[in-house]
Amino acid sequence: MLAKLYRRVRENRFRQWSSGVAELGRAPYSILLYRQYLQAVARQRDCVWLPFEAKPRPGVTSLYHRHDIDTAACLRNLPALLSIDCELGIPSSVFLRPDDEEGTAKWADAVAVKREYESRGIAVGLHTMSYAYDDPSARLNFEIAKFETTFGNTPRYITFHGTGNKYAAKRYAFQTELAEKIHQFGFVFGDFSSGLRSYHYEVTDCHLDAAGRFCKTDLIDPPPPMTDCSYIFLTHPCYWRV
Ligand SMILES: [Zn+2]
Repeated sequence: MLAKLYRRVRENRFRQWSSGVAELGRAPYSILLYRQYLQAVARQRDCVWLPFEAKPRPGVTSLYHRHDIDTAACLRNLPALLSIDCELGIPSSVFLRPDDEEGTAKWADAVAVKREYESRGIAVGLHTMSYAYDDPSARLNFEIAKFETTFGNTPRYITFHGTGNKYAAKRYAFQTELAEKIHQFGFVFGDFSSGLRSYHYEVTDCHLDAAGRFCKTDLIDPPPPMTDCSYIFLTHPCYWRV
């Protein structure tokens, strides 16, 4: 009874909080904001940062932190963000995309960063856009092989690159298909399907309108804890001034 009441109070607080979320600023954002956000979250009670592959923890708010590396600029800025994560003891994760739109991000440039930060507890996986290709499974196998050749190991984790509405149907279809057979491709975990994990709230740096990318006030006023819910902090390091 008490637990139910406690949960309802938190849900009301969350609803009230989310109705007040508004635009905060335009990219690139100050790296100070990044650090202050993580520190503000650390001050909250009943919230716990978990590694990407860990199951949500009952009785608390489970927090996940993901960096999606879509461009060469993302890769260049990544160490600055990761060093803050490590300093604050946050088990963040990094996802590398093999077919970035600029054609300039080279996985070879990521080898040293991957080696250093994996040894410090950061998970590194594949960020795929294979669903946009004619044969997504064949394309995914190609990406896995490329990852293996570059880094010397099979990717254990996978996330999906977002493309708005452009390939929405193809994306959903392949996510559904892959969720059923994720282990057949050698992956341990991916968060691309609600059957695998769903997030109750996403704090991100990549909101988009006609004027470009922007962030919201949830970066200075983080979502309040809500028992048995999962939140994700999703960044693209190219949007930060390091
Ligand atoms: Zn992406």
